Amino acid sequence: MILCLGGLPTRNFSAGQLQGVEAISGEALHDLIMARGGVGTPTEACMDGCVIQCSNIVADAQGQLAVAPLEFETLGLCGANLGLASLDGIARINRLCNDLGLDTIEVGAALGVMMEAAESETLPNGIDRALLPRFGEAERTAELVEEIGWGTPLGALLGRGVVAVGRAFGVRRIPAVKGQAMSAYDPRVIKGAGVTYATSPQGADHTAGLTVFAPANHRDSANAVALSRSSQLQRAAYDALGLCVFNLGAIGPRPDVALAMLNEAYGADLPADWLTTLGRRVIDAERAFDRAAGFTDADDRLPEFFAHKPLPPTDSRFDVPETELDSIWS
Ligand code: SF4
Repeated sequence: MILCLGGLPTRNFSAGQLQGVEAISGEALHDLIMARGGVGTPTEACMDGCVIQCSNIVADAQGQLAVAPLEFETLGLCGANLGLASLDGIARINRLCNDLGLDTIEVGAALGVMMEAAESETLPNGIDRALLPRFGEAERTAELVEEIGWGTPLGALLGRGVVAVGRAFGVRRIPAVKGQAMSAYDPRVIKGAGVTYATSPQGADHTAGLTVFAPANHRDSANAVALSRSSQLQRAAYDALGLCVFNLGAIGPRPDVALAMLNEAYGADLPADWLTTLGRRVIDAERAFDRAAGFTDADDRLPEFFAHKPLPPTDSRFDVPETELDSIWS
């Protein structure tokens, strides 16, 4: 879907489609897993009892574990965003991140910024251009992720995340909000996700309220705030209840089913709008924490380039008015 919308972060969010992206599509991943056999499986429960089983295990060419799971956001941030259209290359980066306990979205975004810096005419003093990874370069990229664990100067910088890397190199295109790296949904095309990135107390976190599955024109800014608000309220409630985000595909449109389960389990008689009320209480508490920590409305913004730099190939920009961003929780 993201491939069709033209909103897949590509080469540090400079485009929305990667040439040759079919090589890292869901279909290609499925076919690779099935062809290799071994320990690989395209469907796996990440916890006992889950009937959705949306997780996976990717085997290497010998049928041994390469990584588990390999997810869309990793394919986006550690693949297209790095100009890398190789499932094995992405799987290796993913495995290293897993072993180091690192988030692949943050690492992929930080690598993308570093790769953009490698193409600039000037670099900060003391930086050896030959050590920087380049777009599409799997080997050096994986080595550098490994260096996070070793604590080399460049590895240590990468391990501090996308904002630290951007500031160190003087890169202006830093895809982050409130210090949190952006996920694999470009907000110039999926504008509801952009509103979530901007206004969520958690920063640019797609799990706080992803709107891309809603039946809507995602480039229409008129829908964006309403879509984001309902999605953020729903996610906050589900998180508080300990329900997996991917449950929403099954019972998201039927909150009455979730309420019926709660009423049965606890002998309660919850009102029909109880999930929305719960979500709002969670978000209000999180926003109060942010305010006490010094965040203001000025932090509820996307980086400026999303408004000023049109995204190829759609040439779409993020144009939701700031007054609407500020009114989302009023
Ligand atoms: S639906 Fe949720 S619990 Fe089930 S496998 Fe996927 S992520 Fe895990």
